[in-house]
Amino acid sequence: MKSRNHADTRKRRIDRNAARRTTDHCCSPRKICVRCSMMKVVQHRFKAFRKAFGRNPLPNEPLFFAEDSPSPRTATGDQTIQQLRQAAEAAMVPLEPLLKFLGWHDQVLGWR
Ligand SMILES: [Zn+2]
Repeated sequence: MKSRNHADTRKRRIDRNAARRTTDHCCSPRKICVRCSMMKVVQHRFKAFRKAFGRNPLPNEPLFFAEDSPSPRTATGDQTIQQLRQAAEAAMVPLEPLLKFLGWHDQVLGWR
C-alpha cells in the first residue's frame, strides 16, 4: 500500500512537470516548434555577437552581422542565411521551418 502511494505521488509529480513544460511551449524536445527554434537561434546569435564585440547587442543592432567588420554591421543576404544555417545546426533545430517563418524560403531557393 505504502509503495503504491509512493508511485502515485511520483507519477503525479511527473505529470505536473510535463504540464509546466507545455504551459508556454507548444512543442517537445523531439519536435520543436518554429518559435522555440527561433529562440534557440537568437540565443546562439547573441553568443556570437558577444564573442565578436565583447558585449550584448543593442536593440537596433543586427544579430546577423558582417563578421569582418570591427563594429556591428548587417550581414549580406548570403551571410545571413549562412549564419542562420550555422545557428540552426548548433542549436540542433531544423532550418527549413525557420526560413519559412522568416519569409526567406523563396529567396534562399532563388539564390541556389
Ligand atoms: Zn515551442
